[in-house]
Amino acid sequence: MTEHKRVKAGEKVGPGRYVCVDCGKTYEMTDAEQDLRHCPACSCEMYDCLPITHIRSDIKTPEDAVNPPKR
Ligand SMILES: [Zn+2]
Repeated sequence: MTEHKRVKAGEKVGPGRYVCVDCGKTYEMTDAEQDLRHCPACSCEMYDCLPITHIRSDIKTPEDAVNPPKR
């Protein structure tokens, strides 16, 4: 099951990875809560949110975060 939340620019978001739905750029948030900004690359305001808890050193792409590679 791949399930991630979709969030919009302007919302207060917690730590995690935010992937622009339009151009695929990934932004990492590490602070507790901050306003999500429009994508600097394409001005898109919708992001897919990936939980930061799944981030490992061998995960480089949002797809890996959703389906972590087997070691
Ligand atoms: Zn973008």
